[in-house]
Amino acid sequence: MSGRFIEITGRVKAAMEEEAERARPRECCGLLSGKDRVITDFHPLRNEAAEPETRYFASPEDLFAAMQRIREAGQALLGIYHSHPRTPAYPSLSDVEMAFYPEAIYFIISLEPRTHLRAFRIEGSRIEDVRISLISDER
Ligand SMILES: [Zn+2]
Repeated sequence: MSGRFIEITGRVKAAMEEEAERARPRECCGLLSGKDRVITDFHPLRNEAAEPETRYFASPEDLFAAMQRIREAGQALLGIYHSHPRTPAYPSLSDVEMAFYPEAIYFIISLEPRTHLRAFRIEGSRIEDVRISLISDER
């Protein structure tokens, strides 16, 4: 899977941003899925990190259930998102260390100074920007 852009519906983008706002001051996290490299579905997961204001660790139970939902829908895991309530939308050191899915695209929603969504591919210690292309919800 290559490419420096990812397509995502406006509804999923709005859902991620709402979730980030709701979780504040903690980070939220979750999975994004779809078909043919188009993200159409959003799966929020509980953040069970010991320091949820600056880190995320998805509940293994939630993760398992979400992966099952994705499989049953005949979709693929395309993205992993989390929020940065107080820091820019760029992967932190721990984000890079915890990026176990090189084929997934990592979305980060920053809330300060304003809501801002960015996407990255993280392979080892290499961080590459991925352009987000917004598409209509009728998929
Ligand atoms: Zn982070």
